[in-house]
Amino acid sequence: MHARKAITGILVNVCRLVISLTFIFSGYVKAIDPLGTQYKLQDYLNVVQLGQYVPDYITLVASVLLGGLEFCLGVFILFAIHRRLVSRLVLLFMAIMTPLTLWLAVANPIKDCGCFGDAVILTNWETFYKNIVLLAAAIVLCVKPLGMPRFISRSNQWIVVTYTIIFILFSSSMCLYTLPTFDFRPYHIGANIKKGMEIPEGAKGPEFETTFILEKNGQRKEFTLDNYPDSTWTFIDSKTVQISEGYVPPIHDFSIQTTDGSEDITDSVLSRRGYSFLLISPHLEKADDTNFGDIDQIYEYCQNNNYPFYALTASTDEGIQHWRDITGAEYQFYLTDETTLKTIIRSNPGLLLLKDGVVIGKWSHNDLPQLNDQSPKLERTEYGQMPQNSVTCKISKIVLWYILPLLLLTFADRTWKFTKWIKEKEHSNKIYQLFKRKKNMRKKIVAGNWKMNMNLQDGIALAKELNETLNNNKPNCGVIICTPFIHLASIAQFLNQDVIALGAENCADKEKGAFTGEVSAEMVKSTGAQYVILGHSERRGYYGETPEILKEKVQLALKNGLKVIFCIGESLEEREAGKQNDVVKAELEGSVFNLTAEEFKNIVIAYEPIWAIGTGKTATAEQAEEIHAYIRSIVAEKYGKEVAEDTSILYGGSCKASNAPELFAKPDIDGGLIGGASLKAADFMGIIDAWK
Ligand code: PEP
Repeated sequence: MHARKAITGILVNVCRLVISLTFIFSGYVKAIDPLGTQYKLQDYLNVVQLGQYVPDYITLVASVLLGGLEFCLGVFILFAIHRRLVSRLVLLFMAIMTPLTLWLAVANPIKDCGCFGDAVILTNWETFYKNIVLLAAAIVLCVKPLGMPRFISRSNQWIVVTYTIIFILFSSSMCLYTLPTFDFRPYHIGANIKKGMEIPEGAKGPEFETTFILEKNGQRKEFTLDNYPDSTWTFIDSKTVQISEGYVPPIHDFSIQTTDGSEDITDSVLSRRGYSFLLISPHLEKADDTNFGDIDQIYEYCQNNNYPFYALTASTDEGIQHWRDITGAEYQFYLTDETTLKTIIRSNPGLLLLKDGVVIGKWSHNDLPQLNDQSPKLERTEYGQMPQNSVTCKISKIVLWYILPLLLLTFADRTWKFTKWIKEKEHSNKIYQLFKRKKNMRKKIVAGNWKMNMNLQDGIALAKELNETLNNNKPNCGVIICTPFIHLASIAQFLNQDVIALGAENCADKEKGAFTGEVSAEMVKSTGAQYVILGHSERRGYYGETPEILKEKVQLALKNGLKVIFCIGESLEEREAGKQNDVVKAELEGSVFNLTAEEFKNIVIAYEPIWAIGTGKTATAEQAEEIHAYIRSIVAEKYGKEVAEDTSILYGGSCKASNAPELFAKPDIDGGLIGGASLKAADFMGIIDAWK
């Protein structure tokens, strides 16, 4: 079982890693080349004949969003953020992409699907197989999303989410404004264009096969050179198809021609020693003309310093003229293939600086070099030097601005989580210790015994005040108010008994009948009360309630669905004689130990030493705890440990807000039965708050 769980855990996290790294990489390379991604989206739209209907800005926004979405999904999976939702989104993404790439592989309408931008070029079938693997991994994550442990706690996930979205959108926008951070195309800085066009010696060239169609006696047949027939056959037609690509150099479609097509100057441009500027604009009609002044200034600088300046475009003569009209451009235009120009630089227009045929600088029209008639020769400017370690520098920036903050956040989060865990552990240990000593399950109770105090109006007012206070500020214990009979029905009308339960102070030992002045358990119950105090020392002492009478009362109370707060306790003489244990034991045996264990669950014991009731003398917490523990032990002897642990044993006798916390802190004291201090809301609340 454990081994299976471990294997599943490993599988889920391997899938998580595969998906996250792939998505982060593919999303990032797309996001930093929004124009490249846009061109690819336009290719797809053209294949399905929709290209002309979708405006450029839509495809551009879609390309930024697509790259950003993939990147974010990858990061969220890596950090296990919103695991269920994100793994479903990844599955949805793969469920769309996989059939799409199957179609690409089968129909081959586009050679490179563009899933890794220009960074990694896969064949369409390779892409499809890759997607099958990702789809399977996405299914695993979807089935077991919670198998991915979080790198960052839930409460801090929003920081990663927000920072990642800002980072990727900012990166994408910056790359759109300037140029892609990383250039994976063959025209990157440092590339020797001429070398990129060379086919190495001995490399396999493309292979072609020619089929000949010949006819004899009205019958047409196809032949190849290997089975070419005799002269009795008449030649009709032939067709030649490429059967293998052979070695394709990284740059295979670069050429520069004069606009009338009369001259190809590719070689002279690429072989020239020294600096040359190439202004690149695939479409002059769509080119951004905001910075034409800077371009003109660079052109003038070139004129002054004898640097050739070629403007390469795929536009028509009208397009060129249109550009000249709006910008006053005086430089010479040449023709180059549109796709090649789009590949050379992701800016329209953009500027390229060649030195001895090697690309040493690339600039978007928004970020052109500041060169004017005052500027020194290129050798003496930063623009004329090959940038050093630009890749290392760019990677360091990403580490500094994105990876490092996230690592620090993760570290801080984990440390915070760990300390929290340690604290919780300590806390739960404390609880455990407490639990061992005092069953926390046991109900804690503060019960008030109003005795023969307060008329109906005063009683109602007090009950109302308590009701309101405790409903606004929920107590940490059960609260009961036991009132004279006359209050019960009225108070029951408004008391929220989920918060404060209502009880009587007595009930008759007879079920019903001619017992003038008595109130039966059934009557008490009918008022809405839930509890009844029985065995109070005042009733035992002043009204002669014997253990037998109390036994009857307890029976009747339980029979009528009332819970009993059963009071026991020794007199001062008995305590002084050290007989307290015997006294309480006898009182329990005399009136409640006849009950079944099930019935006994409805008994709350209140230990009230008679010498402490209303006298201002309180038993010390230690004295009280000692006898409470004893009472619990005799309950355990009678009904078993479990029942004893569940029995609430309250202390009563001059209990007030000042001594309640110390008394209630004792493991066997589960609250108090309060006389005098229950007659004022503030005093009573002070005791209730001892549980907080
Ligand atoms: C009581 O009568 O149950 C009692 C405990 O009274 P006091 O709190 O006033 O001592």
